[in-house]
Amino acid sequence: MKYGFGVDIGGTTIKIGLFSVDGDLLEKWEIPTNKTDNGKYILTEIAEFIDHTIESKNIDKSDVIGVGLGVPGPVNKNGYVSVCVNLGWNSINVEEEFHKISDLPVKVGNDANVAALGEMWQGAGKGYQDVLMVTLGTGVGGGCVLNGKVISGIHGAGGEIGHMPVKDDEETPCNCGNHGCLEQYVSATGIVTQAKKLLDMDERPSSLRDYDCLEAKHIYDEAKKGDVVANELVDSTCKILAKALAQVCSVIDPEIIVIGGGVSKAGDILTSRISKFFKEYAFHACKNTPIVLAKLENDAGMYGCVKSLF
Ligand SMILES: [Zn+2]
Repeated sequence: MKYGFGVDIGGTTIKIGLFSVDGDLLEKWEIPTNKTDNGKYILTEIAEFIDHTIESKNIDKSDVIGVGLGVPGPVNKNGYVSVCVNLGWNSINVEEEFHKISDLPVKVGNDANVAALGEMWQGAGKGYQDVLMVTLGTGVGGGCVLNGKVISGIHGAGGEIGHMPVKDDEETPCNCGNHGCLEQYVSATGIVTQAKKLLDMDERPSSLRDYDCLEAKHIYDEAKKGDVVANELVDSTCKILAKALAQVCSVIDPEIIVIGGGVSKAGDILTSRISKFFKEYAFHACKNTPIVLAKLENDAGMYGCVKSLF
């Protein structure tokens, strides 16, 4: 049997998965992300963990096809990361650095891009080659997979759907520094910000007013129960997202759109509302592109990291 390691490097934890190359996740672990000294020990700790695992499981190293790494920031084609705020990294060639400490083949990708690849391989996009994935969490990530390959682009910004400009009159800056990015309206934090604005200006009664600490989940839950204001918020969010997806589809025309991330736990309300508005906005040939929920949850990145190796 041949094996691969999928490593999803997050700002607080590193998820490491041991996979068979057939696509089975055999075992997974989590280790804390050591951000000491601008994250300089992160790669060494990953390499040591993997070496230890190979040894303790009596795996022949020649049966390991490599290590795929997912990083929370833009990664260019050669594995170069110019800046990764969450890990403290600055201008580092991750593939080259990993080669210095491990003799296993390595491939590095952006976390949202590899998640899209993972969903294509063993998740909601299984059986497809052209997949557009959007991850709705604290921020909004995205990944475009065409002909089974991630489109990462020359600057590693391919698939950065969250930072598509969608509004002109936004006064609050986005995390990226621009104003009016998609992420500011449709992420978990985005919908809460929009909800607070609406509840402040609006006198209508709403069960959303009962929450001391309003979260995206509450808005979707109350919408399902029929709250009018919550439904308005879900509609406006899904409308903005659907328009952005329609624009992307006019460029890449994927076979399927996968919605993942914490917000996607809202379930069918999300995909059905997005689909409704998508049909209004999309070019006629793309109107029936299926919009589905992701399947692999937090493991998608690890799956995609392994898939990126072959
Ligand atoms: Zn932005």
